[in-house]
Order: sequence, then C-alpha cells, then structure tokens
Amino acid sequence: MGFVSTTYQIVKKLGNNERTKIINVIVKLRKNVLTAYIFPRWRRLPDNYVKHFGDPDKTIKPGSSEMAGFVVAVDRDIYDFSGLEAVWEALDSISSTHEDLQFLYQELTEEIDATPERLGVSCENIEARIDKLWDKGIENEFIKEKCLRDIESKVFKDGLIEVQFNPHRKSIVSKARVEKRSKGKELCPYCIQEPGREDYFWNNYVISANPYPYYDHHIVIVNSRHVSQYIDAEALKVMAEFVLSSPHYFSVYNGPPGTSILSHMHFQAGIYTFPVEKAKKELLNKKDNLRVSRLLDFPTRGIVVEKEIDKTGEGLPDSSPGYISGRSR
Ligand SMILES: [Zn+2]
Repeated sequence: MGFVSTTYQIVKKLGNNERTKIINVIVKLRKNVLTAYIFPRWRRLPDNYVKHFGDPDKTIKPGSSEMAGFVVAVDRDIYDFSGLEAVWEALDSISSTHEDLQFLYQELTEEIDATPERLGVSCENIEARIDKLWDKGIENEFIKEKCLRDIESKVFKDGLIEVQFNPHRKSIVSKARVEKRSKGKELCPYCIQEPGREDYFWNNYVISANPYPYYDHHIVIVNSRHVSQYIDAEALKVMAEFVLSSPHYFSVYNGPPGTSILSHMHFQAGIYTFPVEKAKKELLNKKDNLRVSRLLDFPTRGIVVEKEIDKTGEGLPDSSPGYISGRSR
C-alpha cells in the first residue's frame, strides 16, 4: 500500500537535515483513510514564551499534540498568556519553514512509492482490552482522573488551535524532573512496575495507561526492551498496525530532543480529534490510493500521507474487529 514506505521515506529525509530533524508523527484512521501527519521542526522550545516570562521552564513544551494545534499548559499564567497570537507565533517559530521543506516538496511531487505492502491487523479485540485496562486504572486510582476533570480549555480560529490548562500534569513535566530523567538519575518508569498499573502485551510492546492523561484513553505503548527512542520503517509499521487494530485510537511518536522519556522506546495513543484534522492541505502527489499533501494556513508545517483503505482492502482481514463500528472518533 506504500503508506509505511512513503512515510518512512519522508521521515528519513527530514532526519538528515539540521533544519527539519526534530520529528513528531501522528498516525490515525480517519473514515477509512489511514493518515500520517509528519511535523518537522528545528528547535524544541519557543522563544516568545521564554522571553515573556524570563524563565526557560515557563513555556509550553511542544510535542506531537502541540504541533497538531493542541497545546497543553500546566501553569495558570502560561495558560493566560496562551492567546491566539502567542501560540501561533510559538508554533510557527519552532516549525521548519516552507523554504526548509522545499527540497522535500519537490521530491514528493516528482515521485511517491505506492508499492503494495502488507500490514498485520490483530484479530483479538485490542480496543476492548485497552478500554478495560483504562477502566481498571481509573478504578484503582493509577490514573489521576483529575487530569481529565479539573481542566479548562479555549479554542481559536474555528478550532485550528486549542489550549488546555491541566495543572495536575505539572509535577511530571517540570524542568528539574526532565533533567533528572535525562541524566539517568530517575529509574525508568516504564521498566519499574508501578503499583496499580495494568499491562497488556501486544506485538512486542506493552500497553498501559498514562497516569497523567490529557486526552481520553491516553495510553503508552512501550517497547518490551529498554532501547532508546527511534523511528524507522518498523516503528511506523507498528503505529499503523496499532490504529488498524484499534481504529478509534490515534498513535503518536515524539522524537528527541523532547521532554518525554527518551531512554525507552515508546508511542503514545488515545482518542482525540486534533485541530490539524481541520487544516487546509495542498496535494503534492497521488498514486493509486495514496496521497501526499502539505499543510497550509496552519501554525506548523506538516506533510500528510493518506492511504484509502476499505474493508476488503490490502492489509485488512475480512473480520477486522470494530473497523466499521459506530464509536465516535
Ligand atoms: Zn525502560
């Protein structure tokens, strides 16, 4: 189907370039279209927040969600400062420019790879297993439910930007905590079995709930081996197979350097509609059922790879569970 190979071709080219090498990826099934959003950037933190507060810890810390237009603030003053202009400037300034990406747009316009590929879909009902794991996590208070309840949010530009105030996440994203983690002074939270955590083993990965969620059914999909965060064709295939097997979930990869746990390969996943899904796109190329576009009039730059699949399409068994169920996305 060319979805994984094309997405990987893009990720690899971006990773080899100083101006585009910080990469975030979201994979999602949107009405039978397997979609990858690839967000390249050249810097980690936005200057305008750091300048305004005069404190390198007082800023939004963009990952995939932010690059997709969904910003999470853990401090009240950061939330208050996060109006349309500040957020737009922040995301725009860390994102690679269209000029930086011209080489890639050009190559994609000339050629994309639609060679058939086979993606495995689990016949076991992963969604039901994850839902159960989630409910258990809430029940035994492993998941800090207040992260989903005690929040405020605001929306700008017809939903192209959303900002959430989530004060209960503050303890895990503080600068001190991130530094400690990056210096290896904190035990890998994925390797220690935290009390109350429910694990579900799938495809050489361990799925468990994120104890500090910022969207519904926020889970982590952690490699069963303690290896550093990386992205390659195999990792992208896992992300695609996960969403094909649990079609109401998206999957997310946050590339280094970032604030998340980079010493242990993992993805995040959950159920959410990101602002970027409403963004304008311009088609760069199309071959068979594969389309490649670029984002337009959005605060971040991004490449979108889309592959139309139907129930009888490649890579999907006829009995794909829940694939056409009515659960909202
Ligand atoms: Zn680990």
